[in-house]
Amino acid sequence: MTISRKDFLKMVGAGALGASLPAGKGLASPKMETARAEAKRLKIQDVEIYNFDIPLTEPFTITLGTITTSNGVLIRITTDAGIIGIGESSPFQPVTGDTPETNIAAARAIREILKGKDPLAIESAHTLFGGFLHSNPALIAAFDMALYDILGKAAGLPIFRLLGGDKNTFETDVTTGIDTPENMVKSVKTRLAAGFKTFKIKVGMDPAADVARIQAIRDAIGYDHGIRIDANQGWTPDQAVIALKAMEKFNIQFCEQPGLDSDIAGMKQVRDESPIGIMADESLHYPSDAIKLINAAACDYFNIKLMKAGGMTNSVRIAHIADAANIRCMVGCMMETRLGLTAGAHVVASQRNIVFADLDAYTIHTVDPIVGGMKVGPSGEITLPELPGLGLDVDPAFLKTLKRV
Ligand code: MG
Repeated sequence: MTISRKDFLKMVGAGALGASLPAGKGLASPKMETARAEAKRLKIQDVEIYNFDIPLTEPFTITLGTITTSNGVLIRITTDAGIIGIGESSPFQPVTGDTPETNIAAARAIREILKGKDPLAIESAHTLFGGFLHSNPALIAAFDMALYDILGKAAGLPIFRLLGGDKNTFETDVTTGIDTPENMVKSVKTRLAAGFKTFKIKVGMDPAADVARIQAIRDAIGYDHGIRIDANQGWTPDQAVIALKAMEKFNIQFCEQPGLDSDIAGMKQVRDESPIGIMADESLHYPSDAIKLINAAACDYFNIKLMKAGGMTNSVRIAHIADAANIRCMVGCMMETRLGLTAGAHVVASQRNIVFADLDAYTIHTVDPIVGGMKVGPSGEITLPELPGLGLDVDPAFLKTLKRV
């Protein structure tokens, strides 16, 4: 059946407007025509690359090692129309495989590839990134969020709205690293006093000692607040089952990555025998991993991170794959500043099946280099600004302290 343009516009409820417009103009207002014309002539002029290293307020320990600084790469993509997109990489070598040094080398190469290209063509940019994704996922995340920042600014919309979302407020948990039970209780109590409601506790050492850690925390704070745990690959499947059965009484929301990232069969075994739900983290980097985990029925939840996935584009793809499999997701972080965390928050706010957030790295940074961006209330409630793009900028005073590379 063919239908005339006039009838189509009537059908979609735009009859009066459409009928009065000359053919070829569609539904666009003069303002939209101007915006389109401006967007069409956008070209990437240059990419500024900076290395930054922000000390943490305290060392942060997980099974994979101890971190003392937030060390990453900041990029600013400039365009001929004056719109600037900002991005951050926060590589964590044991998980993402890249480092600030490899990121800088890759950023220099990508800068040359992107010069003169259309910054709104994010899909095409990912094709150009090619093999850089698997060798430098955190850096690709930086470029991807900077391109989304430009797209949002060109469209005049916050990124989460551009992606169809509307929940601009949600809660983040706060994480306590591995330490003695006494020190971990102290850390949780301090954060509880600050207002946080949900606590993520790092485990994955000796199962009996881990059970003692959670017991001490529950004894200290009671059962009114949510606890989720993260073993960061530290247990064998058998140890995980022993630990999780013993922790059932502590009312744990879920356990992240009980065993080795490559051991999908082991994760499936733990999931089958555990009374606590299992969330894949280090086993889940890219959309293709999401399909493997779903096919193996290996987990209950996904922990999506921009730095593992190579940015917002792949994070949204993972969320869509998860949605089709009825899997609910969390967005987590590495040691990002509020720049990368805000990009993660836009992904949370844009997808209906992202129901958990772990975007707390800012709580242990000695410097906040960002103005604007996500605001965090005392109980961990994150609110995104209704501003175009990411809705933030780098503090000019901080930028002055960095050396361009
Ligand atoms: Mg984790």
